[in-house]
Amino acid sequence: MNADSDKRDREYSYLSTIIREFKLTKNQVQSAGSDGLVEMREVENPHNSEMVATIVKRKDVEAHLTQIKSYPTLAPNERTDRKRYAGRRRLRDKLEFHCPRCERDIRALRGSEMFEVCWERQASTEEAQRVLMVAHYRHEHTDYEKRLRERADLRYERYREFRDGGYDFDEAWERIDEEDIEEEDEGEEFDIKARSNEEALSLLHQDFPTVFAHQRSKYERQESNT
Ligand SMILES: [Zn+2]
Repeated sequence: MNADSDKRDREYSYLSTIIREFKLTKNQVQSAGSDGLVEMREVENPHNSEMVATIVKRKDVEAHLTQIKSYPTLAPNERTDRKRYAGRRRLRDKLEFHCPRCERDIRALRGSEMFEVCWERQASTEEAQRVLMVAHYRHEHTDYEKRLRERADLRYERYREFRDGGYDFDEAWERIDEEDIEEEDEGEEFDIKARSNEEALSLLHQDFPTVFAHQRSKYERQESNT
């Protein structure tokens, strides 16, 4: 490093450093930059050559600090984003419920499809909450996960048999899928999700009788008929 670059290091600082040191926001510095109050430059990011970093002339910041602080802290799109995040947080709060079986407050998970549907106002919060409750009970308070694992193991066993019988990878899995569809057509109770949902609903009826009216499941009906 030569004397010139040492000098430049002192003359300019990274945008993030300026923000921290002078207690400014990104929007304030950038607004000052586009109004020509402070000199800003894009340089190669020292940690990632594919990205650029912004450096800011320190002297300009010191000279115009009061003016820079008078710029809005957030850009209009950042304000919209903040509002949106706050709205999503409120919806997540609304959908939260206390599960008496885990004794925990359960929130809609990130990536929950029902949450997005409700956010887009395609479902009421009551409806979305019921769906989230069923999903939580299915995953945590029925044998759903265990059944899924068992089914995956069974399918794998059959896959091995097909492979040993000379089928290749794609053929073997296609045959297994076909067999599963046939089973379904014959009305065999292999729909793990539907069955687990019914169990979840039955538990929910015990825990939240006013929210979940009891419906006798088709499995219960079958059992009592035999
Ligand atoms: Zn629970």
